[in-house]
Amino acid sequence: MDTCSYCGAPFPRTRKTRKYCTNRCKTNACLDKKPRLRAAEVEALHEILRTEFHSVEALREQLRAILAPHLPPIPLIDGRAAVPRLD
Ligand SMILES: [Zn+2]
Repeated sequence: MDTCSYCGAPFPRTRKTRKYCTNRCKTNACLDKKPRLRAAEVEALHEILRTEFHSVEALREQLRAILAPHLPPIPLIDGRAAVPRLD
């Protein structure tokens, strides 16, 4: 017996079924795979290694812009975290 890498169900391991209990789980696991980074994104990440940042937030904002452009930007003022004022 082995445990399915996708759904966690126990299944009898054979030569044909090594990691997944059914073909459906094998297909779903394939479809779930994260999209790979494009070459331009990898290049941008390498550029970050050579860049100096004013703050951790500035670095986080650069990473967000490359990896998650759909998420809202991290607010920065002069390269530092913008702290919302209460007045
Ligand atoms: Zn399964």
